[in-house]
Amino acid sequence: ILLVEDEEKLASFLVRGLKEQGYSVDAAQSSRAGEAMAYENTYDIVILDVMLPDKNGLDVARTLRSEGYRGPLLMLTALSRTKDKVSGLDAGADDYLTKPFHLAELNARVHAVLRRKKLEGKNTLEYGNLTIDIERRQVSINDKTINLNRKEFDILEYFLLNKSRLVTRTALAEHVWGDNIDQADNFDFIYYQIKNLRKKLQESDATITIEAIY
Ligand code: CA
Repeated sequence: ILLVEDEEKLASFLVRGLKEQGYSVDAAQSSRAGEAMAYENTYDIVILDVMLPDKNGLDVARTLRSEGYRGPLLMLTALSRTKDKVSGLDAGADDYLTKPFHLAELNARVHAVLRRKKLEGKNTLEYGNLTIDIERRQVSINDKTINLNRKEFDILEYFLLNKSRLVTRTALAEHVWGDNIDQADNFDFIYYQIKNLRKKLQESDATITIEAIY
């Protein structure tokens, strides 16, 4: 992983957290250093801060893309406005995280992005008797399509991309409901969606289960 982040404290916290997950991480504190490292080494993922002292992270993303970097790009942004996220995605980013974020959320995103990369253009995933088409947002069990609402699909996809890993409810909430999740809110709405999702999976005899850990 290449991490380009100028805030020293945050950078060392993230490096430590990612290393604990078993990733090998290089850190750069400026755009120039980051670009140089990206040319010299091969990375599976580049995590890029938008606000950098020497050059905007979006421009770094464009540069890396135009220089041939095809791997995943994850942007870190302090800006939560939709416009900025769209610019990030236009610049070639695969995903973005709004600061402040939880380490668990970064780990989950990194894992999901790397899983997607492993699919290499394949849009369909199979888990037991369940097939999920990520492009068309369709889920079928034993070749029979099941109807999920938008949130149920997002939840299921997120769980599947983090298969066999612990997903915190906060990380799930942030991923599925966005950055404006108020920590003080109760999580009833998440439990409600998961309850429905579980019921639909069960009724269709899915061989996968969502397990809760308290
Ligand atoms: Ca910064």
